[in-house]
Amino acid sequence: MPTLFTKILNGEIPGEILYQDEHCFAIRDINPQAPVHVLIIPKTEIEGVATVEPHGDHERLLYAARLIAEQQGLTDGYRLVINQGVQAGQTVPHLHVHLIGGRDLSWPPG
Ligand code: 5GP
Repeated sequence: MPTLFTKILNGEIPGEILYQDEHCFAIRDINPQAPVHVLIIPKTEIEGVATVEPHGDHERLLYAARLIAEQQGLTDGYRLVINQGVQAGQTVPHLHVHLIGGRDLSWPPG
């Protein structure tokens, strides 16, 4: 079964694709936590960081994050978050980076 994010990529579930290359794609989070909240997702259905291999589509995620942050005008900074597993609050078992910005972000995170 394709994951939720793969279904969005394939147009089976609605969602605007903000960015796409050979390795990954990006969509707006349906429940944004900041003025900019984008999910950057490898095309390969890696479940999470816990099953990441040395090489693969996930290697492009940081570069994509940089491009999308520039595209979104986040010149004052932004945060990248990956939730791994239940205790971190991961709800979708398809690796994704949250790109969050457009407001002051407190530290430490909750
Ligand atoms: P996680 O909790 O796994 O780190 O992040 C999953 C994210 O996916 C959540 O922030 C949630 O709001 C977002 N999300 C869940 N369902 C959908 C959906 O159908 N469309 C979009 N664009 N985002 C979704």
